Amino acid sequence: DVAKVFAPRTTFFGRGKSRPVRAVDGVSFDIRAGETLGVVGESGCGKSTVTRCILGIHEVSSGTIRYRDRDGRMIDLTALSEHERLAYCTDLRIVFQDPQASLNPRLPVIDIVGEVLKVNHLLPRSEIEGRVRELLQRVGLRPEYARRYPHAFSGGERQRVGIARALATNPRLVILDEAVSALDVSVRAQTLNLLKDLQQEFGLTYLFVSHDLSVIEYICDRVVVMYVGQIVEIANAADLFARPMHPYTEALLSALPVPDPAFKRRGRRIHLPGEVADPANRPAGCSFHPRCRFATERCKAETPALRSVAGRTVACHHAEDLALQGVNMGSSPE
Ligand code: SF4
Ligand code: MG
Repeated sequence: DVAKVFAPRTTFFGRGKSRPVRAVDGVSFDIRAGETLGVVGESGCGKSTVTRCILGIHEVSSGTIRYRDRDGRMIDLTALSEHERLAYCTDLRIVFQDPQASLNPRLPVIDIVGEVLKVNHLLPRSEIEGRVRELLQRVGLRPEYARRYPHAFSGGERQRVGIARALATNPRLVILDEAVSALDVSVRAQTLNLLKDLQQEFGLTYLFVSHDLSVIEYICDRVVVMYVGQIVEIANAADLFARPMHPYTEALLSALPVPDPAFKRRGRRIHLPGEVADPANRPAGCSFHPRCRFATERCKAETPALRSVAGRTVACHHAEDLALQGVNMGSSPE
């Protein structure tokens, strides 16, 4: 594993900072070397909170974030001082959703991409431009773009600059937080293919956060499904899409647009009543029970633990008994 996120009970992130406190409960998962692990859920489910916690942007009040360093040692990032953490900031990098907002408009690309190299003294100044030009080429941009400013680029090109910036330090784990969500459909596909190529080339591990299941299906090996600050299901992507084990996953899948009429949807769209709950004020028992058509008295009283059911990982009291509908995607039209 490259990293282990372990939060056994209610964990508050953002404590002591200006951001509002957000609770995440029992969010524990491993990130395996070389994989793309998806984290999916509606906005406000805690996905971004978890990534910010891995990066040390948010504090963690309980639980650990363990990272396997280049020498194979497991380091608890939450136990490090800010100064000690700096040693790992080049290993763990992030690409944000909005390339417009995340690139400083007043800096040329050479400074945007090269800043992390300069600040961390990874390269002598004289070598930074060469490295930036090389990185631009790797992400499919012309090396001479190093002297341009962000406004001179299209949205897709700007996101390539953001990817080059993340790769500048030869990271091991790259967090992609809604990294293609702001892009047009055709540009999105190109960017996803670029990310796949870069992963192969550099042996990267991705944590891919998105609310968009069609993107998750395309790029992820495994998927963590979150609902109001908790994990409800973890599965291989193919298994999850073919056969969800949690009613919330089933509802998310049922809302997917069918990309091609040759891919027939197996079932009907499931409409979820009510609103997503507030993570800081979750319903008792299973947080999903007010919206779940299978809810029983037990669901209202008892919180389901994340557990193994038939080789799968799911947090639902009745997972054994439910035969939920999946979707047919991927490469085998019926
Ligand atoms: Fe639905 Fe109960 Fe399962 Fe929660 S535990 S998802 S309410 S069946
Ligand atoms: Mg988010």
